[in-house]
Amino acid sequence: MRSYKTYIGGKWVSSTEHIEVMDKYSGDTIGIVPKASKEMVNEAVNSAEEAFKDFKKTPAYLRSEILERASYLIQQRSEEIAKTICMEAGKAWKYSIGEVKRGVETFKFAAEEAKRIHGETVPMDASTSGTNRIGYYIRVPIGVIGAITPFNFPLNLVAHKVAPAIASGNTVVLKPASATPITALMLAEILEEAELPSGVFNIVIGPGREVGETLVTNDKVQKITFTGSPKVGDRIVRIAGIKRITLELGNNSATIIEKDADIDKAVLRCVDSAFANSGQVCISLQRIYVHKDIVDEFTDKFAKATENLKVGNPINKDIDLGPMIDEEEAKRAEEWVQEAINMGATLVTGGTREGRILKPTVLRNTTREMRVMCMEVFAPIVSIVEYSNFEEAIQHVNDSDYGLQAGVYTNNIKKAHYAIDNLDVGGVMINDTSIFRVDHMPYGGNKMSGIGREGVRFAIEEMTNIKMVMFNLS
Ligand code: NDP
Repeated sequence: MRSYKTYIGGKWVSSTEHIEVMDKYSGDTIGIVPKASKEMVNEAVNSAEEAFKDFKKTPAYLRSEILERASYLIQQRSEEIAKTICMEAGKAWKYSIGEVKRGVETFKFAAEEAKRIHGETVPMDASTSGTNRIGYYIRVPIGVIGAITPFNFPLNLVAHKVAPAIASGNTVVLKPASATPITALMLAEILEEAELPSGVFNIVIGPGREVGETLVTNDKVQKITFTGSPKVGDRIVRIAGIKRITLELGNNSATIIEKDADIDKAVLRCVDSAFANSGQVCISLQRIYVHKDIVDEFTDKFAKATENLKVGNPINKDIDLGPMIDEEEAKRAEEWVQEAINMGATLVTGGTREGRILKPTVLRNTTREMRVMCMEVFAPIVSIVEYSNFEEAIQHVNDSDYGLQAGVYTNNIKKAHYAIDNLDVGGVMINDTSIFRVDHMPYGGNKMSGIGREGVRFAIEEMTNIKMVMFNLS
């Protein structure tokens, strides 16, 4: 077990209070990290504000080189970081190493995007008042960015905030999830080694209510970028004051399987999409709408593939599913399954819990009122629901408070376009499920799923202000 310091103003500092970080499978303490006081949060913001004065002037090629080095160093430490994610997040090895690979790419994309942040000319003479004038706008960094991240992707969701911020000349104070702060501290070591100037990146660890809210309400913070639950997102919007806010929130993601789809391919992809990281992914597949003519075949194959999944210690390389983040969450998920069964759902497989591990669970005959359907389940639970016609399936998907991503399996181009036109979500994945994401695509949700978009280039847009310039030539 290691005792960590946190990173503020380019220095490694301790605190009078500490938080223990647990291995989510064994329950052993794997690290002790400093809990930030209010003063430490404000000090981190002051350091970031001071560092911004110079960092905003740093040329694009230098920002790009720092990010390129960081990408390389993450790659060099892949196994060590993946092992940490495995332990502190309980994420199976294959997904942990996958997350590290994505983190390498996210920093690489940011290194590339750092060189193409620009505005455009404005044809001033389109207005009668604009003749003899030249106009253009540029994009400028906005200042100190407060980044708050969840437990389920301790590296790559931090990367999605920190890398675009550095690319665009901003400075950052990060509050990682209390359950998974060690990966973020490893990233600080990497950024220091990559020669990021002191004060550009700072970490404050501690409970959201205390440390998170101190950051959110600090007037020197120009923008909050948050990934987490809708409940906390709502709270942040209410207390932040006048600041830019990006919210990446939850979803009860759906995918439609039309009868012309390749069932075997769809089954395998859907099983992975429902149970990766024990269903604790914002775009985890939670509702599968299957055409009535193929629903029995689909369900049989789906149940068999689910029963083949290996559940256990996530550090073992052949494991598909590890524990959930804590026992309370696992109990909550088990209760939702029981509630659905009491309300008339059929348990196809799974449903049992041992400590933090809930067996991958498949339900049928679920209805929209059940919590496993209408709320974000965030656990290894999926419902298979049959439908008769495609338009009705689209309505089912839209019958949600959320709107992050949805998938549609069909080889019919008209149906694909009907889905694209009518699904109220931030991303439509044709012949894939809701879970598909690569790190340079625009990503974010409608309705309760959030405000704004991430994906490196799009995060940079949200982290820069437009400055308009006009020359009067008359
Ligand atoms: P939470 O909303 O509970 O926590 C997210 C972060 O917010 C944590 O760092 C937490 O701190 C902090 N926090 C908690 N309360 C406050 C507060 N009052 N003010 C400021 N910060 C606060 O989410 P989880 O970590 O449980 O993550 C799961 C959620 O994240 C799901 O809803 C999921 O859908 C969503 N998510 C969305 C994604 C997207 O891109 N749309 C991607 C991944 C997840 P602490 O850890 O100390 O509680």
